[in-house]
Amino acid sequence: MSNPLLSRWDTPFEIAPFNSISDDDFAPALKQALAAHSAQIDAIANSSELPTFANVIEALETPCRELEQVLCVFFTVAGADSNPKREELQREFSPKLAAHFSAITANKALFARIKAVWDQRAELDLTDEQQRVLMLTHRGFVRGGAALEGDADVRMQEIKGRLATLGTQFTQNLLADERSWFMELSEEDLEGLPAFVVKAARAAGEEQGKGCPVVTLSRSLITPFLQFSPRRDLRKKAFNAWAARGANGGETDNRAIAAEILKLREERAHLLGYDNFAAYKLETEMAKTPEAVRGLLMEVWDASKSRADQDAQVLTAMMQADGINGDLEPWDWRYYAEKRRKAEHDLDEAALKPYLQLDRMIEASFACASRLFGLEFAPLDVPLYHPDCRAWEVTRDGQHVAVFIGDYFARSSKRSGAWCSAMRQQAKFPEVQAPVVINVCNFAKGDPALLSWDDARTLFHEFGHALHQMLSNVTYESISGTSVARDFVELPSQLYEHWLEVPEVLQEFATHAETGEPMPQEMLEKVLGAANFDMGFQTVEYVASALVDLAFHDGPAPSNPMARQAEVLEEIGMPRAIIMRHATPHFAHVFSSDGYSSGYYSYMWSEVMDADAFAAFEEAGGAFDAERAKALEEHILSTGGSVDPTELYTAFRGRLPGVEALLKGRGLVAE
Ligand SMILES: [Zn+2]
Repeated sequence: MSNPLLSRWDTPFEIAPFNSISDDDFAPALKQALAAHSAQIDAIANSSELPTFANVIEALETPCRELEQVLCVFFTVAGADSNPKREELQREFSPKLAAHFSAITANKALFARIKAVWDQRAELDLTDEQQRVLMLTHRGFVRGGAALEGDADVRMQEIKGRLATLGTQFTQNLLADERSWFMELSEEDLEGLPAFVVKAARAAGEEQGKGCPVVTLSRSLITPFLQFSPRRDLRKKAFNAWAARGANGGETDNRAIAAEILKLREERAHLLGYDNFAAYKLETEMAKTPEAVRGLLMEVWDASKSRADQDAQVLTAMMQADGINGDLEPWDWRYYAEKRRKAEHDLDEAALKPYLQLDRMIEASFACASRLFGLEFAPLDVPLYHPDCRAWEVTRDGQHVAVFIGDYFARSSKRSGAWCSAMRQQAKFPEVQAPVVINVCNFAKGDPALLSWDDARTLFHEFGHALHQMLSNVTYESISGTSVARDFVELPSQLYEHWLEVPEVLQEFATHAETGEPMPQEMLEKVLGAANFDMGFQTVEYVASALVDLAFHDGPAPSNPMARQAEVLEEIGMPRAIIMRHATPHFAHVFSSDGYSSGYYSYMWSEVMDADAFAAFEEAGGAFDAERAKALEEHILSTGGSVDPTELYTAFRGRLPGVEALLKGRGLVAE
């Protein structure tokens, strides 16, 4: 019998035939698919014809159907519905796939043909989108080191290998430090802690075989302990252990590793012809230069620091009222901030939940997309990989647009978090393919299923990513949908969250599960107010980390990163009672891999844009302004990576984003 992962799918909308695929099909299918893809690449690389846009770039853009089918099915089920067999397959597939794709980048004959097309680009009469795909393809290979020869090529391979090893060590050291520390608590020490923290501390003690409750450095335990424990001595001890992760001396110390990583990144950037690593890294981002990143961060810094300074005074006064003299310390902040939150914004999550029914929130996310973009959603009955999955056909004016799949409930076979992925991306080359998009979440089941406010935001967030995939309207798959710069990709998702907060949307869809009544205005105001609480602190700890990350990569690599970190914090006047959200020895975003190196700023960058973009709707007359919606689709949601994001944003907004809307949204300046 033929392997169902490799044959052409004769199903509605060519959705993967999940009910006829078994776990035993994956390994042989992947083997065949990789061979098919390698043959495709070899044929392009070794062709005897003169290199052209069609026989090189379009040939690379032609999807290897077998490989795409295997990967989309496998990674969907491995993430959302795993089992021991699938976990084992994942361990087996990861290095195979890494080797497969790095062999393509290292293929000298292939690169020679790409370069030949690139060199004749002026004479080729290409469309704008074709020029962009050519530029991105060429640049991707060059950045991967494909243009290096001789010693430089050898050294690049050494650096890549060493960086991978160091990144793994950094992560493992951090885990070791987080796992080895604990603080035993007596029954007396538990006083003042809420029941859920006591329960977690007892469970942690049992797990470690201590015979008493303990505090560990797991974020879900240490953070509430610092928030709720009235014992200043214990908070100090726990806080200091938390802050020292990765810097405890001995075998698990990450400081020398961080220094070596920074040195190697600098060398890598120099080999590729860049002044420093930040210049290399930011080239592909919307921000483009370290100056642009620093400019944005400093604009946010001043407002957040002055808010944090004011908040510190309030918290200090609360502490002194408790009979403690002296300065507010970092182990005091969360405790007094929590007391203040309770006094000012006490929000009863239990009373809120019945207003946020999952099904009604799904309806709300669809209804907003109907009003904004004219999309319609009809339930679709197709076999999927788990009975909890639901599918809809998405149409506009009677025309098929996409298939949308929602897999909303938590289960042990699903990894944590929430995500959006395309099982098939939109493209028109070599033939028209409509997207199949999936949102996976981890909401608690119930009858009816009820969400927290954060859950509801997550639902809208992931649906924003889904719209970016579903409304994509480009020719080539490599630049379709969410295939955009890292500091641009969260714009559609974070922007869509704003529609959840629109009063008329809540009025219609946030109705009580039993009474059917809409959410009271007073409750809505509490929800929105609580979301901005302690933003001075949160923004300061984040921006300080982002500025240190940037300073590490913008300029010569520091031989002593800890000294450089101290210098940066001194320069910006870091408030004494707040530390970096991630200090260097445990800054995994920056040192575990290249993912967010000189890129930690990008969360804030996207938030600046989403606040500014939603303000465009408000300025134009409301959240559902038809012209703004049309511009959003035309310039941002349909364009994928076919145009530089700066141009896209400017086309939508008439100018580049400013920070005012973010500062107002975070409550850091007066409205
Ligand atoms: Zn996202």
